[in-house]
Amino acid sequence: MGFTRAKPDEAKAAPRDAQVPAAAAFGPGNAAMFLDLLPVPAAVVEMRGRGFEFEAVNRPFRLAGLGTVASESPLIRLLGMRLRRFLESNETHEEIAWQFGDEVDCRYFRVMFARRADKRGGMRCMVTLVDQTAELRTEHSLRREMMTDSLTGLPNRAGFSDEVEAVIGPDNREQHAVMVVNLDRFSRVNACMGGLAGDELLISVARRLKGALRGRDVLSRLNGDEFGVLLTLDEGPTDALHVAKRIHAALANPFRLSDFEIRVDCAIGIAMGADNDGDPEDLVRNAQFAVKRSKQTGRTEVYHTRAFDIAREQFGMETELRRAIETGALTLSFQPICDLASGKTTSFEALARWTNEEGHKLSPNDFIPVAEESGLIVPLGRWAMDEAARTLAEWDAAAGGDCGIKVAVNLSAIQLQRDQIPTMVKSALDRHGIGGDRLTLELTESAIVTDPDRIAQTMKALKDLGTTLAMDDFGTGYSNLAYLQKLPIDLLKIDRSFVSGMLADRDKIAIVRAVLSLAQALGMQTTAEGIETNELAQTLAALGCTYGQGFLYARPLEKDDAFAYLKARKGP
Ligand code: C2E
Ligand code: MG
Ligand code: MG
Repeated sequence: MGFTRAKPDEAKAAPRDAQVPAAAAFGPGNAAMFLDLLPVPAAVVEMRGRGFEFEAVNRPFRLAGLGTVASESPLIRLLGMRLRRFLESNETHEEIAWQFGDEVDCRYFRVMFARRADKRGGMRCMVTLVDQTAELRTEHSLRREMMTDSLTGLPNRAGFSDEVEAVIGPDNREQHAVMVVNLDRFSRVNACMGGLAGDELLISVARRLKGALRGRDVLSRLNGDEFGVLLTLDEGPTDALHVAKRIHAALANPFRLSDFEIRVDCAIGIAMGADNDGDPEDLVRNAQFAVKRSKQTGRTEVYHTRAFDIAREQFGMETELRRAIETGALTLSFQPICDLASGKTTSFEALARWTNEEGHKLSPNDFIPVAEESGLIVPLGRWAMDEAARTLAEWDAAAGGDCGIKVAVNLSAIQLQRDQIPTMVKSALDRHGIGGDRLTLELTESAIVTDPDRIAQTMKALKDLGTTLAMDDFGTGYSNLAYLQKLPIDLLKIDRSFVSGMLADRDKIAIVRAVLSLAQALGMQTTAEGIETNELAQTLAALGCTYGQGFLYARPLEKDDAFAYLKARKGP
């Protein structure tokens, strides 16, 4: 029921021939007599010039405090305009909701104006009022009860939804966010200390949360151990993250429950209004989704649709990666590869490393795919080739001649398609005065699958430069064994997924054995990746694998450490 202060558009105009109470048709004399028969406040009102007069009022009218003289009656003071408009219209009947009195002591009436259809009644009408205060109050308090959490007195889930719907509209959604705060391990408190202690804790948590919020933020209890906050963002989305920090800080001190001190932590999920063009209620659901993720990651999580997330991350990474390549912020690490029979270090694999602007070390497994997708793999690959050749030249210079080691550089399948690899490799070697026989190029099986004819030509040209060609991650792709035989491949690198854990897995051993005998049949050498134990190295050596690479020997090292490693191995 929409009982608010009366507004013009709430008026309901009835059809002209509506039933008219008899008093409006009575003459002045008998109106009073008729009104006294009515159990509800009623008056006959006449408009004279600019003013009104009461022709008659009944007892309930007087008792309701509506006066006896029109000029002093609150009814005329507050509804005079409406009454005038009604009397000047052709309507015979109008009904409005009217709230009379201040907020605390206010009464709700349904007010009806009625008069004769033929205007013989002149500018007069009967006003009757039906007091609906009790009914309305019951309805309000029932509604409030339904919308309130009885434990904390905060809005509950339904109440919160109402608040969100009322506040957030299409024009202001950027200025709002919904945050969900979920307490960690609350069910354990309940189970160990009982429901009463749990209730006490919830009340204290609610109090602290309220203290961490700003005046306009709305706190609610969504369910058991989950609170919702409707936030107003003055400075944009960062506001929400500040509030999240304040909430964590507010909960940092332990809570005292009888004789115990209890530490309560929480997960926080946020949904920004700006990212939501649907139903405001979606914001609550999305924030609940984000809080689930926050439970796993241990961080405050902001909800984005997954696609949005990936696109933003990749775009951000792409821009940063481009800058990193341009400004020389990438580095190469070098991981030794050893001859399994003699234990001698024969080469280093060059592996790209990137510490981004925020200081995070990113894995090539994350940024190489972004480089491939964006085309940045071409400049990245050129840089890696040049940097590897330069480093080898530096090592040679430091060793006073050929330092006796090779460098292996990775080539991505996309890079092979997009760049003139033989020309690129030759110019890098020439630039640093390095012979082709000092270089191994690691290709993956996917390079062969995409365009076997073109790759065959490229590989032949690379062989003509004197380089060694290795098939990286062997076993994980789908290479056609017939091609393997046709292409000038010198070395198979057996993927780490087959090597690690091989000793405890008969299937893996069988695969490794098969690869080793295939390589032997084709006259190729082999490198096992991911050797982490001595036992594994020995087994692989016994099976006839040529080289080994893995943490057992060394993790990828910075170039100076790699050189020191080399020197230490070779002895003085
Ligand atoms: P990959 O070429 O197979 O390189 C071997 C990866 O295995 C390296 O990971 C290395 O750190 C890791 N590894 C080596 N030994 C062990 C071990 O014993 N245990 C474990 N758990 N891991 C080991 P990283 O450096 O993260 O490189 C990942 C991949 O990124 C490389 O795999 C390569 O495919 C690619 N990548 C790295 N640098 C470049 C580059 O300059 N160009 C291109 N195209 N790809 C690159
Ligand atoms: Mg490799
Ligand atoms: Mg590999």
